[in-house]
Amino acid sequence: MKTPIYMDNHATTPLDPRVLDVMLPYLKEKFGNAASRNHSFGWEADEAVDTARKAVAGLLGASAKEIIFTSGATESNNLALFGAAEYYREKGSHIITCKTEHKAVLDPARWLEQKGFTVTYLDVNPQGEISLDQLADSITDKTVMISLMAANNEIGTLHPVEEIGRLAAERGVLFHCDATQGVAHMDLDVKKMNIDLLSLSAHKIYGPKGVGALYINRAKKPRVRLTPIIHGGGHENGMRSGTLNVSAIAGFGKAAELIRREQPAETARLLALRERLHQGITSQLDFVYLNGHPTRRHPGNLNISFAYVEGESLLMGIKEIAVSSGSACTSASLEPSYVLRALGVGDDLAHSSIRFGLGRFNTEEEVDYTIGRVVETVNRLREMSPLYEMAQDGIDVSKVQWGPGH
Ligand SMILES: *Cc1c(COP(=O)(O)O)cnc(C)c1O
Repeated sequence: MKTPIYMDNHATTPLDPRVLDVMLPYLKEKFGNAASRNHSFGWEADEAVDTARKAVAGLLGASAKEIIFTSGATESNNLALFGAAEYYREKGSHIITCKTEHKAVLDPARWLEQKGFTVTYLDVNPQGEISLDQLADSITDKTVMISLMAANNEIGTLHPVEEIGRLAAERGVLFHCDATQGVAHMDLDVKKMNIDLLSLSAHKIYGPKGVGALYINRAKKPRVRLTPIIHGGGHENGMRSGTLNVSAIAGFGKAAELIRREQPAETARLLALRERLHQGITSQLDFVYLNGHPTRRHPGNLNISFAYVEGESLLMGIKEIAVSSGSACTSASLEPSYVLRALGVGDDLAHSSIRFGLGRFNTEEEVDYTIGRVVETVNRLREMSPLYEMAQDGIDVSKVQWGPGH
């Protein structure tokens, strides 16, 4: 077993070597522009894009014509939100989303608010679930779109996509789903689930970075329409201009094909690894709390908080294991994760949370090693914690009245 161990597969996934093999020819001799109509270089590239489009569509139960290639899920989300807001401006100016969505949905939503739109941010319960009743009650005759993700990237909680789609269809509202994390494990069927727009990213499913897709439902009557956000040349049916990144798209197609073929077995394998990790930790440590839903969650996601340890020290203690923490220290502020906050997790537990993101290349041996390192580190840190000692004695630390000096 080699270290460092990569266990941050919600941030990005390693490129599958089988994907790289498909990409390489399009970075070398098959370098043509897929829009060149007059020679074999162009035809070859166009064929690769075609194959990839069919593979991505196949993964979703969509038809190839309904897939627009983009630079990633951030762009797909922007195109879905801005494109629908602009096109359906006459119909209304209200959008519904949720407090725990990815920033690539929340930030465009905020932007739309500045442009005069009204946005409803649904609450979640402590497991990260929305209330379908609250969703139904939020829909007005001005509502253009519901944007809710498939699987949460921090806490793994799955939204009830099929129920949301049914509600959206009944009420004549568009349903956009950011399925970046969900697509690898959820068996999504855009037609059956009444999804009108769906965002994907290749680098979360063992493909390359910088390429993604937006599914746009064309079967619905009237057809789902968007106003493009990038203009120039009319590529992708005019929905997304710019020369296609052929090698990345070819890789994305291969990645989608592999997911489709291997998904059921891989989901079961990840679930077993995740349970092993969770059990291994909680059987040896007390005061450990799961964030997100116990069962309705991404099979590779384990987000847990360790009371009475400091998040930073814990991360330092297990630094040969690549994971994420619930403190968004990257953003220079020491704000705890807005997702955990929306669940009602207190600042202390949010700061001591760790997101383990298991993926295709993680092994049982790595999981066992991780359990050992986490248990050892948490025990060592707690030995120095008077609060932990009090908690063990049954004292409710949150109710302790500190004397002066504290
Ligand atoms: C990673 C991620 C994104 C952003 O995708 P990019 O392709 O990196 O732009 C959007 N939504 C979710 C849920 C993600 O996990």
